[in-house]
Amino acid sequence: MKMFKLALGLAVAAALIATVTVRADDTKAAKPIPYPLKTCPISGDKLGSMDKPYVFVYEGQEIKFCCPDCKKDFLKDPKKYLKQIKEEAAKLKK
Ligand SMILES: [Zn+2]
Repeated sequence: MKMFKLALGLAVAAALIATVTVRADDTKAAKPIPYPLKTCPISGDKLGSMDKPYVFVYEGQEIKFCCPDCKKDFLKDPKKYLKQIKEEAAKLKK
């Protein structure tokens, strides 16, 4: 009977791991939130004026930069820039 309980415990653990894995895949497959601005959040430059925007997805939020270098700056303080993007987007809606 002890062995049965152990096996059951392992099965439950395996099922939990499987569930977590599937969920992680779901978020990856989910479409990111579109980038709401027409400017690079780092430089403030208009996107597409110089070159094709550099598109990057951070935690489900699509972000567009004027150049790949701006992504490096973004990753130094992503929370700050995400907040900035949200604030700018809110202004545009007004
Ligand atoms: Zn840039």
